[in-house]
Amino acid sequence: MQPSEVIDIVPSAYEKGLASGDLLFFPSSVHHVEENGIKYEIRLCPALQKKPQPKDSSQADSEKKTYDPFSPPYNPNLFIGYLPNQDRGDEAYAILMNKYSVVPNHFLMVTKEYQSQTSPLTPDDLLNSYKLLIAARKARKNVFAFYNCGDLSGASQPHKHLQFIQIEDEHGPPIEKITRGINLETPDRPFTVNRLSYANHVFRFPSTLSSLSENEQEATLAQAFLSLLDLAISTIRHDPNYPAGKPSYNVILTLEHLHVIPRSKEYHSLESNGDQLPVNSLGYAGMLLVKSETELEAVKGEGISKILRSVGLGSVHEQQVMGDTVDVDVPGGIQVGGSRI
Ligand code: AMP
Repeated sequence: MQPSEVIDIVPSAYEKGLASGDLLFFPSSVHHVEENGIKYEIRLCPALQKKPQPKDSSQADSEKKTYDPFSPPYNPNLFIGYLPNQDRGDEAYAILMNKYSVVPNHFLMVTKEYQSQTSPLTPDDLLNSYKLLIAARKARKNVFAFYNCGDLSGASQPHKHLQFIQIEDEHGPPIEKITRGINLETPDRPFTVNRLSYANHVFRFPSTLSSLSENEQEATLAQAFLSLLDLAISTIRHDPNYPAGKPSYNVILTLEHLHVIPRSKEYHSLESNGDQLPVNSLGYAGMLLVKSETELEAVKGEGISKILRSVGLGSVHEQQVMGDTVDVDVPGGIQVGGSRI
């Protein structure tokens, strides 16, 4: 299947999933909060309180070990098709509709063979994802991809899966709007968005990327990811209290940028009532999810920057800068640069 076919089929597959009862839609309302020049979106979705919570009971935990929804045979009402491995040409990825959708047309790209969600993105993962984003743009849809990697990243399924969300705003998710505004002197190097409260590592793709050959696209994407992963791991190593085990991080991929955000915790404990607020890549894209009015008020009261810092890490970019120029990201105004690493 071609990426353009996937993009074309998603809306009808979504309707088919809904009609069959295999795809569940959870209605929500969107609330905006502006902090530090970033217009965050908080989605209030009370219906999620009724969603099955596999992590909450030991019985569900043992079921999870035996049942993998991302391994074949797939539910035909959620399955869209396969995407190939670029080198071998065989079916390497399955495209599935998200069974529990808060946003319509949310789909997943899962590896056909089991791979762990704690493993880094491969060049092929990145290229196939990027091609889906290009196909979406050609179809005039604003789609971005994300990957929750590792136990502390907010992932709920252990089988490797990238996720694709369609949004209305042509400028992308909130984080992308401020990232786009940053003016870089040497755009081929990773940088940090200084105004954010947490460690973040970003790479801006060359503006010609979508018109390059697939081999060149793959090389650019892979190199960008590796350089950001190196920085994320370096950030993690600076934290003496980082939990043992594989590193966790969130990845956000748009047509213009790749973001990697190292994670220290899966949940933020809300100050007002101790509720555990899960945060995943979407939170770092600037799109948070809460399940009640109480949580909504708690998040607004506590502040999103503080919450994202608490489940992320502190920036150590000063230590990471080695003899390179440091520019300044001017909050709320015209950017004169991020900090180049
Ligand atoms: P994450 O929670 O980030 O690991 O993402 C896993 C996604 O897979 C969630 O958005 C779930 O809604 C979705 N999901 C869970 N079970 C299924 C399933 N059987 N088929 C398709 N999507 C699923």
